[in-house]
Amino acid sequence: LVICVGQVVTDHTFRVDEVEPPPSKTTARSYAMSVGGLSANAAIAVARLGGRAVFWGRVGRDEAGEELKHALEAEGVDAGGLIMAEGARTPLSAVIVDKVGERSIVTYRGERLPSDPSGLPLDRLSEAGCVLCDPRWPEAAALAFARAREIGVPSAMDAEKSEERLLRQLVPLTDHAIFAKTGLSIFAPGVPPEEGLARALQAGPLKLAAVTLGEKGTLWLAPGMEAPARRPAFPVDATNTTGAGDVFHGAFALAIAEKQGMEEALRFASAAGALRARDGKTPDRAALEELLAG
Ligand code: ADP
Repeated sequence: LVICVGQVVTDHTFRVDEVEPPPSKTTARSYAMSVGGLSANAAIAVARLGGRAVFWGRVGRDEAGEELKHALEAEGVDAGGLIMAEGARTPLSAVIVDKVGERSIVTYRGERLPSDPSGLPLDRLSEAGCVLCDPRWPEAAALAFARAREIGVPSAMDAEKSEERLLRQLVPLTDHAIFAKTGLSIFAPGVPPEEGLARALQAGPLKLAAVTLGEKGTLWLAPGMEAPARRPAFPVDATNTTGAGDVFHGAFALAIAEKQGMEEALRFASAAGALRARDGKTPDRAALEELLAG
């Protein structure tokens, strides 16, 4: 079981030929509405890849919130820990994807989302093989990481772009810190990624510090290694890189829950991220195993 804690938003995705500089008006080739958000996407990835997924997050008690809950459940994710707050507004994103798959995103963080995580069913942590948190609900991440460590349940963090103080607070609490490029440059400003990863390992009892670099793969460092190693990306023709990182994180957490070794888990996660970038959708286990088998 993987418990994913953090962000869920409604993604409104527009495919366009070109993003014109403003002032401009562009006609979309297509439009779709879907579940977005770092940990929600990761939870869906866990379920698609054959794992049991639980999602803990917060939305408004509004139509968008209801739709997200149903959409998560339709994906096989247990959304019982989704807090639907009266008077709050559900976050949403406008995602604009151009013809080479590059995206521009406008995010609305929602309003009046409750910060107090004490209503979460924390007892369920003991069932989990891994807990994955993002920094978008920092109070919940801090609590889940602390509890998980107390009871010996492995954890992983999607160390995405966030405030420096939050990254510094949360990274030492997890076992596996997997940074986005911008997340790492905020955590360790002004130093090369290799040094940033070393600093992350010094910050707490981490088993892994890594940074995902798109088609350049993943740079990772574990205690006892002299220098970071690179896990190359699987070469694919990317059509839409949106969510590649989220799927990578979900797959990594599942691999940890399945007790895969570190290199194996990173390879598993890279394959999942590559398939998401290639197909624009989260892969199932069969597609992933096929890529892994080469
Ligand atoms: P984010 O979505 O957070 O920006 P990345 O773009 O770094 O994250 O993607 C996460 C991982 O997914 C990468 O480390 C890589 O393994 C895989 N991935 C992403 N984009 C590609 C791509 N174009 N080709 C192959 N693998 C990719």
